[in-house]
Amino acid sequence: MLRGEKFFMNYDIVIIGSGITGASIARELSKYKLSIAVIDKASELPAGASRANSSMIHGGFDDKPGTVKAKFCVPGNKLWHKLNDELDVHLDECGSYVCAFSGAEVKHLEELLAQGKANGCPGVEIVSGDKLREKEPNVSPEIIAALWSPEAGIINNFEAVNAMIESAELNGAKLFLETVATGLILDDKGNIKGVTTNKGEFLAPVVINAGGVHSGEIASWAGDKSFRIIPTKGEYYLLDRTAGETITSFLFSCPSKAGKGITVLRTAEGNLMAGPTATEQEDPEDRSTTPEGLAEVLKGARRLVPKFPVNMNITTFAGVRANTESGDFEIYALKSPRGFVNAAGIKSPGFTSAPAIAQHIAQLLKEELSDRITLIPNEKFTPERRNIPRFLYMDMAARKSLAENDPAYAQIVCRCETVTEGQVVEAIRRGARTITAVKMMTRAGTGRCQGGFCCPRVAEILSRELGIPLDEITRHGGESKLLVGKTKEFLLKKGAVSHE
Ligand SMILES: Cc1cc2nc3c(=O)[nH]c(=O)nc-3n(C[C@H](O)[C@H](O)[C@H](O)COP(=O)(O)OP(=O)(O)OC[C@H]3O[C@@H](n4cnc5c(N)ncnc54)[C@H](O)[C@@H]3O)c2cc1C
Repeated sequence: MLRGEKFFMNYDIVIIGSGITGASIARELSKYKLSIAVIDKASELPAGASRANSSMIHGGFDDKPGTVKAKFCVPGNKLWHKLNDELDVHLDECGSYVCAFSGAEVKHLEELLAQGKANGCPGVEIVSGDKLREKEPNVSPEIIAALWSPEAGIINNFEAVNAMIESAELNGAKLFLETVATGLILDDKGNIKGVTTNKGEFLAPVVINAGGVHSGEIASWAGDKSFRIIPTKGEYYLLDRTAGETITSFLFSCPSKAGKGITVLRTAEGNLMAGPTATEQEDPEDRSTTPEGLAEVLKGARRLVPKFPVNMNITTFAGVRANTESGDFEIYALKSPRGFVNAAGIKSPGFTSAPAIAQHIAQLLKEELSDRITLIPNEKFTPERRNIPRFLYMDMAARKSLAENDPAYAQIVCRCETVTEGQVVEAIRRGARTITAVKMMTRAGTGRCQGGFCCPRVAEILSRELGIPLDEITRHGGESKLLVGKTKEFLLKKGAVSHE
């Protein structure tokens, strides 16, 4: 069945937002006999901060002991190492270094080391610059020491969010895309009764706010104005996979008041990447890159890796953090209206923390909202979910056997990332409705040509599989159509050609 086709009006829980926070909560709660609706205004997953970030599964040394972030980061890291197999996602256990260039920065490393130990971050240690260069010969000769965190890793964030939500769906949760939450419905006692959306009302005694950069506004619908979201943009360079050999571990600059600083990393798929900046802005939806931001990224990247090969850049992008004034996550149930739960202000290390936040929310529902909802274990819960076959990483024998079973796996659609028609069809079968959704689920269009070759082919396959005209296919929903009409009709309208 296709996503969101069957429209139930009554649920036990409505989750607003299907980023990594909402998706992880949905999966965790699908371990119980609950009817769960996840609604998201986007046309594909992931959409918000979960789409555009560094994708680091942090070791857990960066957050001040006693903060909510510190409470969830280390457990989140541990859970991702388990989820890696359960959900069949790509986690590169690469480890991370925080690099120090001066005595003052070494002092800072010592503080981070103590913090890491207090947070229970395993294996953290300070190593010399020379030891770092034995492993990473391309880093600056001026680095004098580094904090090594062996448990840190890099995840494929597109895959991880899709895997998490697919697993929740396999266990009964329903996902509704292009569904914009517009307000809350309260009962006559002033408690939560549901959510109003552009598609109608979703009734439920519990509503969870996982709206990312919009979570402050959503909390204010419940009268909670105790925190404010400060959208904070982070810009990046993404380089070709052939530049990925430059480094093997995640490299941090020494953090400052402005944030974790510019990093250089190799993505789970082997691309070299650098960023992010940290620029506060009014508009939560502004994901544009700027010459100033990118210049700052390049400067920071070259400080860590002097020969950072920016000439191999294939695209730039930006993500927006849901920063709060306190700098911490906002996770709690409101006393009034009863039934409203915030999983809000989830900035970094939110991707890392999400599975642990989800476990905490389940516990919170049991302890604080048992008058509204009962969590009975779902004995049919299946933890495993299998990915769409990754043709690129298969050996010839596996490729041959796949193609013999289904000839669509013998047709290459995306040449840069070696994505086959079989993978695109499978993504559509799993719910992809737009070109970007196919990109997020298969990586078609993420390579060197950025979709120049495969985009029309993906559109044709979407049109064929969904049985809708080609000119109805969109890049990312709404009005983002790929084709606007036939050239001849356009020229006829302009009077540039005649009917003969
Ligand atoms: C530049 C940058 C770098 C980062 N690096 C890291 C990192 O390396 N490691 C790490 O652990 N974390 C990192 N983070 C943080 C991490 O990305 C976030 O904490 C995490 O993705 C937040 O997930 P979320 O689900 O809370 O929010 P989002 O992913 O933003 O999801 C919120 C969802 O809510 C939906 N929504 C909002 N309003 C509505 C509405 N009214 N109706 C319906 N749907 C709605 C949106 O469409 C969106 O899909 C980084 C973040 C940024 C921006």
